Amino acid sequence: PNKAKKGTTKQVENGTNVDGEEKEDKAAQSLLNKMIHTSLVNTTNQVEVLQRDPNSPLYSVKTFEELRLKDKLLKGVYDMGFNRPSKIQENALPMMLAEPPQNLIAQSQSGTGKTAAFVLAMLSHVDPTNKWAQCLCIAPTYELALQTGKVIEQMGKFYPEVKLAYAIRGNKLDRGAKLQEQIVIGTPGTVLDWCSKLKIINPKKISVFVLDEADVMIATQGHQDQSIRIQRMLPKECQMLLFSATFEDSVWKFAERVVPDPNIIKLKREEETLDTIKQYYVLCSDKEEKFTALCNIYGAITIAQAMIFCHTRRTAGWLAAELTKEGHVVALLSGEMTVEQRATIIERFREGKEKVLVTTNVCSRGIDVEQVSVVINFDLPMDKDGNADNETYLHRIGRTGRFGKRGLAVNMIDSKHSMNILNQIEEHFNKKINKLDTDDLDEIE
Ligand code: ADP
Repeated sequence: PNKAKKGTTKQVENGTNVDGEEKEDKAAQSLLNKMIHTSLVNTTNQVEVLQRDPNSPLYSVKTFEELRLKDKLLKGVYDMGFNRPSKIQENALPMMLAEPPQNLIAQSQSGTGKTAAFVLAMLSHVDPTNKWAQCLCIAPTYELALQTGKVIEQMGKFYPEVKLAYAIRGNKLDRGAKLQEQIVIGTPGTVLDWCSKLKIINPKKISVFVLDEADVMIATQGHQDQSIRIQRMLPKECQMLLFSATFEDSVWKFAERVVPDPNIIKLKREEETLDTIKQYYVLCSDKEEKFTALCNIYGAITIAQAMIFCHTRRTAGWLAAELTKEGHVVALLSGEMTVEQRATIIERFREGKEKVLVTTNVCSRGIDVEQVSVVINFDLPMDKDGNADNETYLHRIGRTGRFGKRGLAVNMIDSKHSMNILNQIEEHFNKKINKLDTDDLDEIE
């Protein structure tokens, strides 16, 4: 595929306006999550299934064999290292492969096997002897479309008759040229053009429609309308599938507009809890003293892996530099980095190449690094008005105590204001946070 052209639309997509920033963030986060989830996310929660017809039997599979896939597809699945269906796939795959086709709305966090599931469904439904577009998948950005395209290519490795086309800006085709590829993946604007203005795809011949990353999609100006317009052109009997990592009301309303009579599958996120976590605070007078206290703690924490959160990019950069000057090996995750650079840093941290990761909140939001056992709030999380951001606090700290591990959280206090935030957090979670004396650290060992 060709590179996207520079132009006014791209400007907006890059987040030069207020709306743009928010959504660019979501898409970037989503891409980052895709890049760092090289295996399934651990979950002990059960899936919730809501059937369109509650009287029909509910099928679930424990093996890929039970799905009676074509041999070349089963081979592709095993070649990817999949031994058995993931939690969400156990239920989603039989629904998606049923005859007659069933519509599905599925929600589960990133890394739980949604993409692999709908890719398998698309590949199963294709008739390779027909040289026209049959499966259509839309994603919010060029990069996200490419990621999914890679999965299609990988899973279809032993099924070379099936071809894939990218409907993305810059991939220019002549008006009236007919697409031969059976699977099309692209962004809503270009897909819409190909279906309507340019007539490269005949939407009436589409039998599977996938809308991926619905939550990111609706955060992007125009994508929601474009998606609905595409959906309207498809035949009634076309199978509609929608996937999302989160499910706010807005996503739900959108999902119901584009997926008629759906089955619904939900997998709750692992509950975050402060129960298994020891929380402390350290009293300091300023940033420099916080740094000294951190160095004192550092000796105790390097046995494990730690994440250090700062309020701004500037503080994070400064702190990482100071720690490095002291001879510590730390990684810095910062907002100005590209998604690829961030993915590399997270990957190295996960492999334990660096034991300490310094980051800002915006930068690390939504990332799951499960093996972290120590979290340092160099700055406490707060909202725009300067009040405690309890949700972010829980998300930062909650990750340390998951899957039966015990975690440690240390909060750095250097002002009345930050003490006030700490008190709000204590009150909100109804848990006392004890003072830590950094000259005597026996306590936290
Ligand atoms: P999601 O779309 O929900 O983010 P993915 O389908 O991308 O999840 O899967 C996350 C990771 O887990 C990917 O690296 C994928 O290759 C892998 N994966 C997916 N399904 C399975 C499975 N059944 N067994 C093992 N690994 C899987």
